[in-house]
Amino acid sequence: MERVMKAALLYEGSKELIIREIEVPKLNSGEALIKVKATGICHSDLNIIDGVIKPPRYPHILGHEIAGIVEDFIPINIEEKRFVDTLFQETEGRVIVYFYIACGRCFYCLRGEDNLCLNFRRIGFEEWGGYAEYIKTPIKNLIPLPKTLNFNAAILVDAGATVYRALRKAKPLPGTMIAIIGIGGLGGMAIQIAKTFGAGVIAIDIIDEKLMYAKKLGADYTLNFKEIYCEDVYEIGKIIKKALDISYVDIVIDTVGSSST
Ligand SMILES: [Zn+2]
Ligand SMILES: [Zn+2]
Repeated sequence: MERVMKAALLYEGSKELIIREIEVPKLNSGEALIKVKATGICHSDLNIIDGVIKPPRYPHILGHEIAGIVEDFIPINIEEKRFVDTLFQETEGRVIVYFYIACGRCFYCLRGEDNLCLNFRRIGFEEWGGYAEYIKTPIKNLIPLPKTLNFNAAILVDAGATVYRALRKAKPLPGTMIAIIGIGGLGGMAIQIAKTFGAGVIAIDIIDEKLMYAKKLGADYTLNFKEIYCEDVYEIGKIIKKALDISYVDIVIDTVGSSST
């Protein structure tokens, strides 16, 4: 008899997730079966529900911010076998799932930037995701989750790693002044991580409540961009400096990514 699991299915043209029983995924070699313990709801999930991002086939299962426990695995070689054995010894099989399935062969993969892979597939986007009791994933996408960190906290790694990588690339030193545009999930993470680098933080948004939240998270300055809006982007640096009475801004992190930011 087939093993079944509950999953929240998204059908084409519908904005409702329907919970149905479907077959538990079958593993190929190099894959692990994960019992899902927590999955985050990301803004991109809402974009998929709204049809802005289209999965290649329906019904689709959302969810790419996944933490769980390895229940089964088929290692492709002895290294993978050892990796999973160590995982069971050290974390009792607890993992975070890295949702980018990269090809490992293209220009970007070969230089270690597999997040830019030309042939990537993503769990929760092109592949079925974590709004289900089980998912399958390549073993190489498993990240050990220490027993000291709970599953609900672990799934924040998606937003955390996104801005951590950007900040690390920018190499802030203590005293560096960083402007962070957009105080949503990413911006909130960026403030806290920037502070651990010892940097000063200017939080910029157009909603006052978000700026109050930024202050709570440790932002040194806040700026409501609506109040200082100007057409000429080249003047922005000057305006920020003048509005806040500070002499320099070293790094700008834009978590919004729209043409106006
Ligand atoms: Zn996400
Ligand atoms: Zn690649």
